[in-house]
Amino acid sequence: MNRTPHIAVIGAGIAGSACASTLQGAGFQVSLFDKSRGPGGRMSTRRGDGWQCDHGAQYFTARAPAFRAEVARWEVAGVAAKWQAQVRSFGGDSAAGSVDADSATERFVGAPRMSSVAAWLASSLALSTKVTISGLQREAVGWSLLVQDGHALGEAYDIVVLAVPAPQAAPLLRKVAPQQAALAEQVRMAGCWSLMLDYDAPLVLDFEAAFVNQGPLRWVARDSSKPGRAGRESWLLHASAAWSEQHIERDGDEVAALLLAAFAELGGPAPQRWSAHRWRYASTPQVRSEGCLWEPAQGLGVCGDWLNGGTVETAWLSGQALAQRIIAAQA
Ligand code: FAD
Repeated sequence: MNRTPHIAVIGAGIAGSACASTLQGAGFQVSLFDKSRGPGGRMSTRRGDGWQCDHGAQYFTARAPAFRAEVARWEVAGVAAKWQAQVRSFGGDSAAGSVDADSATERFVGAPRMSSVAAWLASSLALSTKVTISGLQREAVGWSLLVQDGHALGEAYDIVVLAVPAPQAAPLLRKVAPQQAALAEQVRMAGCWSLMLDYDAPLVLDFEAAFVNQGPLRWVARDSSKPGRAGRESWLLHASAAWSEQHIERDGDEVAALLLAAFAELGGPAPQRWSAHRWRYASTPQVRSEGCLWEPAQGLGVCGDWLNGGTVETAWLSGQALAQRIIAAQA
């Protein structure tokens, strides 16, 4: 190729945003697409008047040296910070309300909200939001992206990167890369019910977050204790994957009543306002270990948490790994 290759990245979660920004930094022309209103994917934040709450990823670790360096860059940019929360454990083998055994873990969050990281990464990229890609077509001039009514977006791309959860990658891959589609089809993702609580006044509880190993809950957190948060007292409840799967088709009001009752058992009073969110594809109980997929002959790449460990950190590493493979293939 004697012109700058044009790359379409589908999915502006942390994997797609990281991949796109590294590719652009290496001199490629990159266009990023997402079906949502903004970037971030599962690193997302619900916002209301004077209130906000992260309802997807709660915090991230930074263990790999490359990711630690990236998080340091985010901290300098003011879009991530360490969250030093008082974390407890309830239920299971833990004594009631015991300090979490894992409390030495360094936890980072996006600041002032979880979605800030991807928003910052995407700020220098050509991002089109509210665009759902419904099909891929390989033609002599390159890749065409099909949108919902079946028509192709205006341009042809030399390379396509899919950075979407496995159940959403599978149908896009089926016609153009059946082997990769079969691999994505094997990956089962679990849902998660999320309940965001909005209070007029701060709660008096002796923890800011807790792992819960009993009943429907798995995690509770005082969202307003995270760094950079302004506004009213905000708490987040996550149901466990098993409970969420069992109740995934239930009405949000019924789910909220059950989760609020479980929170009351931990001492949490009823909020003034709440909102529920159902994640159909939250976590990947059995992640794959490929890291990413890259087909140089076709110019087709796949990245995302389901190929590399199921966390923010490993999703970022997946996006990076794919970008490096694409860069190496064009050298
Ligand atoms: P995503 O963030 O899912 O991004 C994929 C993007 O693709 C989305 O923005 C989506 O809108 C877009 N998309 C999908 N299909 C299409 C299409 N056809 N066309 C256009 N766009 C499309 N991780 C942690 O490290 N710590 C935690 O505490 C944690 N807690 C979590 C709690 C919950 C409830 C959830 C849901 C996740 C949690 N995770 C946590 C996991 C973490 O959020 C993910 O591992 C990570 O954000 C995945 O990033 P990704 O870029 O691979 O995918």
